[in-house]
Amino acid sequence: MYTVKIENVSKSYRKFQALHHIDLQIEKGLYGLLGPNGAGKSTLMNIISTILTWDEGRISVYGYDLKKDSHKVRELLGYLPQHFQAPGQFTGEEFLHYVASMKGMNNRQKRTIEVQRLLEQVNLTEHTHKKIKGYSGGMKRRLGIAQALIGQPKLIILDEPTAGLDPSERIRFRNVMERLGKEYTIILSTHILSDIETSCEHVGVINKGELLYQGETEKLASLA
Ligand code: ADP
Ligand code: ADP
Repeated sequence: MYTVKIENVSKSYRKFQALHHIDLQIEKGLYGLLGPNGAGKSTLMNIISTILTWDEGRISVYGYDLKKDSHKVRELLGYLPQHFQAPGQFTGEEFLHYVASMKGMNNRQKRTIEVQRLLEQVNLTEHTHKKIKGYSGGMKRRLGIAQALIGQPKLIILDEPTAGLDPSERIRFRNVMERLGKEYTIILSTHILSDIETSCEHVGVINKGELLYQGETEKLASLA
């Protein structure tokens, strides 16, 4: 069964059509959504995340209809938005505590255990007590993944999470994603082909709101 099934989805902002009849089938693991700036990646990510509505077509997530059962889908979702900013005056640990309590994890002891587990999953254990304003760009992004993992989601949406990272941060970030991809369904949107080539077995390619390719990443390379 597909984790996310997108059928014939179109979306316009007033008169501008940002997505044209998109069909995508996404299975468990790490899935890449590749396209240049303006392709429509954020639009699609925001639709799947239930932030935006769309005009035409159907989307299901783990068998739930995104329109009829959006509250169910929301429970299964973790999201790292494109321009995610965590408050610099918090430590990584304080920030995750804060997000977890906002999401209804009231038991402080359980929350502490969960926060430590999350920091470990994104390789930030040694920066637990450091203020976020002292984090590198890559550390901030990994903290962004950690906050997306709160609440035991099944589907994680990462919108351009590697943009602007330097090469060593990029590699650290990919390592974390690849490990999480064994456990979760992750949709990674990026304009950087090498992110996909190194980490994602399957890819969907969009440009100007149109789907150009979907399938194995390996075969995409042979088309180029
Ligand atoms: P990407 O994430 O691939 O860069 P976006 O989904 O952000 O692409 O944008 C796709 C297209 O839709 C772009 O041409 C963008 O200018 C346009 N767009 C995005 N958001 C809006 C909006 N709120 N109103 C009008 N046009 C928008
Ligand atoms: P791992 O060893 O699992 O990759 P980190 O990603 O935290 O764990 O990196 C290991 C060490 O490299 C840490 O002590 C971290 O502070 C340091 N480091 C130096 N530069 C960076 C950077 N740009 N991004 C993240 N960590 C960095």
